[in-house]
Amino acid sequence: MDTAKKIRPRKGKVIEAILEAPDTWTLHVEMEKEERQYLAGQFISIDPRQFPELSEVIKYLEHVKKRRELVRAYSLASIPSEPYISITTKPERFYPDEMQYPPLLSPLLASNVLKGRELQFSGYTGAYVLPGDHANTTSEVFHFVAGSGAVPNFALLKDELTLEKNISVFHTLIDVNKTYADIIYREQLDMLLKQYASRFRIMHFLTREENPERHGSHYFSGRPTTEHLRPLIKDPTTALAYACGAAVTKWQKKAALETGIEPKPRFLEGITQVIHELGIDKKRFKKEVYG
Ligand SMILES: Cc1cc2nc3c(=O)[nH]c(=O)nc-3n(C[C@H](O)[C@H](O)[C@H](O)COP(=O)(O)OP(=O)(O)OC[C@H]3O[C@@H](n4cnc5c(N)ncnc54)[C@H](O)[C@@H]3O)c2cc1C
Repeated sequence: MDTAKKIRPRKGKVIEAILEAPDTWTLHVEMEKEERQYLAGQFISIDPRQFPELSEVIKYLEHVKKRRELVRAYSLASIPSEPYISITTKPERFYPDEMQYPPLLSPLLASNVLKGRELQFSGYTGAYVLPGDHANTTSEVFHFVAGSGAVPNFALLKDELTLEKNISVFHTLIDVNKTYADIIYREQLDMLLKQYASRFRIMHFLTREENPERHGSHYFSGRPTTEHLRPLIKDPTTALAYACGAAVTKWQKKAALETGIEPKPRFLEGITQVIHELGIDKKRFKKEVYG
């Protein structure tokens, strides 16, 4: 088991590709049980070089970027007790006026092209995991996610709720998306909500939809603010906060240095400020940055 836990090259077969939202796909990868030793919330790294259809684009991108294309990280949506590992990918888009290069790997992963094929990756790694003994120190965990940032938190929630771990701990998911259709795992989250209502609640925030309340009393318009969240927290001095989603990228920071124009804060910058205002100390706040 210890050998399996080390970060090393692994491979499995993509047995299913599921459309989660209009552009977002989940891939289930079949693996032997001893190859599935990881912790809920961890991620794997995928090297784009393994895909022959990307080889010429990689040559071109390396030529113009003057650097080697590196592996990309993907959080696991699955939990170790499930019979396969899963990743969920939302493809990056190319906006020629805002970006220098098109995205390389995510459009391929966010499709059913790899179904039936082998996927090589390295893993498992990452510290975006629950402490395990948190029921000793807190009674509440807050999950702040946006878009594909829902992936590792979905795993954390499944692990805690369906396996009935730390049953005295209440979980709140604050999930931000543009529209109702963009919500990843919506039906599965609704099922968790029905089944574990005594220890789980969700607040969906929709930023580009009129009257989101029509979808239910836990749907809200715009972005979560300190005012929305303060009444939900019993004790900010013991609560744990986990936040995952897009942040200003290193490329945007580099461009800002050159142009002198500050990049617009993204989800993680905004929610970090809210978490600070709520009084949750940074020692009890973990973030996973997708940037
Ligand atoms: C721990 C972790 C977990 C993650 N989990 C998920 C997940 O579960 N699901 C998910 O969808 N995503 C996840 N991501 C994001 C993922 O790793 C990729 O960053 C994302 O899929 C984009 O990869 P890409 O190859 O498509 O785009 P890239 O080719 O990496 O391009 C992305 C952007 O960077 C710009 N760029 C790239 N190279 C340069 C350069 N040299 N100069 C200037 N600009 C450049 C491009 O123009 C583009 O705007 C995670 C990231 C991390 C760190």
